[in-house]
Amino acid sequence: MPAQAPENATPHTTASPAANTAFRSALDVVRQVEPRIADAIGAEVEDQRASLKLIASENYASPAVLLAMGNWFSDKYAEGTVGRRFYAGCRNVDTVEALAAEHARELFGAQHAYVQPHSGIDANLVAFWAVLSQRVESPALARAQARHVNDLTEQDWAQLRQELGNQRMLGMSLDTGGHLTHGFRPNISGKMFEQRSYGTDPATGLIDYDALRATAREFRPLILVAGYSAYPRLVNFRLMREIADEVGATLMVDMAHFAGLVAGKVLTGDFDPVPHAQIVTTTTHKSLRGPRGGMVLCESELAEHVDRGCPMVLGGPLSHVMAAKAVAFAEARRPEFQDYARRVVENASALAEGLLRRGGKLVTGGTDNHLVLADVSGHGLTGRQAEAALLDAGIVTNRNAVPQDPNGAWYTSGVRLGTPALTTRGLGVAEMDEIAGLIDTVLRGTTPVTAASGAPSKAQYTLDEALRDGVAKRSADLLAGFPLYPGIDLA
Ligand code: PLP
Repeated sequence: MPAQAPENATPHTTASPAANTAFRSALDVVRQVEPRIADAIGAEVEDQRASLKLIASENYASPAVLLAMGNWFSDKYAEGTVGRRFYAGCRNVDTVEALAAEHARELFGAQHAYVQPHSGIDANLVAFWAVLSQRVESPALARAQARHVNDLTEQDWAQLRQELGNQRMLGMSLDTGGHLTHGFRPNISGKMFEQRSYGTDPATGLIDYDALRATAREFRPLILVAGYSAYPRLVNFRLMREIADEVGATLMVDMAHFAGLVAGKVLTGDFDPVPHAQIVTTTTHKSLRGPRGGMVLCESELAEHVDRGCPMVLGGPLSHVMAAKAVAFAEARRPEFQDYARRVVENASALAEGLLRRGGKLVTGGTDNHLVLADVSGHGLTGRQAEAALLDAGIVTNRNAVPQDPNGAWYTSGVRLGTPALTTRGLGVAEMDEIAGLIDTVLRGTTPVTAASGAPSKAQYTLDEALRDGVAKRSADLLAGFPLYPGIDLA
C-alpha cells in the first residue's frame, strides 16, 4: 500500500491512488523490456525525494503533468500550426496545441502563444528568427516584390543573407546574470549577431539603466534582450521598452527563470514583461512548474513570424509535451498557483535574510525574486568548492559567477540558490532560515587545500566529516517532514 499523504503535503505533488497505479503499471511495462531503465526511473524519484534541492531552475511537476507526457502523441508528426499542418491526421494534435496556446494566452494576457519550442534555448532561437523575419527578411522581399525567398534572384538572395548576418543584439552580460543565448560566442546567437552587453552598477549590483541607454543609443541593436538566469532583483520592463523604442530595437524578454512569478501575479505592472515586450520567451519547467519545454509569447504583428519556428529552427512538435504544457498552464491558472508564487518569493527573502544574519555576503545584498546569489569568496572558497562541499552535506546548489568574477565562469566565486522546488515541496520561511544555517555551517567548515606552491586550490577542499554528516542528517530530517510525491510507492 502506498504511504498516505501527510497533512502538510502540498496537493501539487500528492498522487491519488489512480496516479500511483498508473506510475507503477507504466514502470512494470518498461521493466519487461529494459529493467535497467525502469530501475533508473525509480532511483531518480528516490534521489529527488532525498535531496534538498536549491537549484533555482528546477522544480517538481505534478503527477497530472508527468502522466500527460507518456502517450500516443509521441508517435505523431505535426509540422505546421493548428489547422495548417504539413501532415494528415492531426486533429487531436490540433486540439492539444490550441488548448495549450489558449491557456497560455489567458494565463499571461498575451496576444499570441506558440507552444511548440522544445526548450528555452529553442524558444530563443525561434524569437531571434521571428524578429529577423519581420524586420529584415520581410522588407527585403517587399523591395524585391517577391512573396517567398525562393522567388528571389541569386543576387537578392545573397544580399539578404548578408543582411541577416549583419544584425546586432544587446543583452545582459554573463557575469551579471545574463544567459549564454543572449548573444554570447559559445552559443549560436553569438555567431549570428554582433553583440554588446549591458551590466550592473558595481556599487549596488542593480541594472544600470542609464549606462544601458547610453550603450543602446550608440550601438543601435536590432534586438534588446532582457531577462536573466542569475539576477536576484526585479527588472523594469517598461523602462526597457522605452529604451528599445528610442533606438528602434525590438524588446525581447527571456523570462525562463521567472515565468512562474509572472503567471502567479507576483511580478505585475512594470515588472511583468508581457505588456511591455514585443516578444517574450520562456521555459515551462522552471518556476512555471510544467514539463521540460519552451514557449514564445508575442504581439499579434509577430505571430506569423513566430509560427514559422518549425521547420525554421525546430524539429517536429513534441505533441505529448504540448499536452503536458496545457495541463501545467491549466494548473497555473488556479488561485493556488498565485499562492505558490508568493511563497516562492517569501522563501527566497527568508533564505537571504538568514544568510545575511549569519554574516553571508549576497550579490545586491538580497533578493526580490526566487533566487539568491551568495558570494562565497569571504570564506576563501570558489563557487566550485562551495557547490561540492554543500553537495557532500546533501544540499544541492549550483556555482555561478558573480559580477566581475575574479575566478571566471568555471570556478566562479558564487553559489546560486533558488526556492521554487522546495516551496513546491511545502517548506516555508522557518525551514528557509534553518537551511541558511546549514549552508553557513558547511561554508564555515570548508577549507581550500593548499597546493605545494602555497597557493590555495580552486577545486580541492576539506570538509570536517562530523560536521558534514550532522548537516546531512539534519537536512534529511527536514525533508522527511515534507514528503515529495506522497502516495507514490514504486517499491
Ligand atoms: N534562458 C534562460 C534565461 C535560462 O536560464 C535557460 C536555462 O537555464 C535557458 C534560456 C535555456 O533553457 P533550456 O535549458 O530549456 O534550453
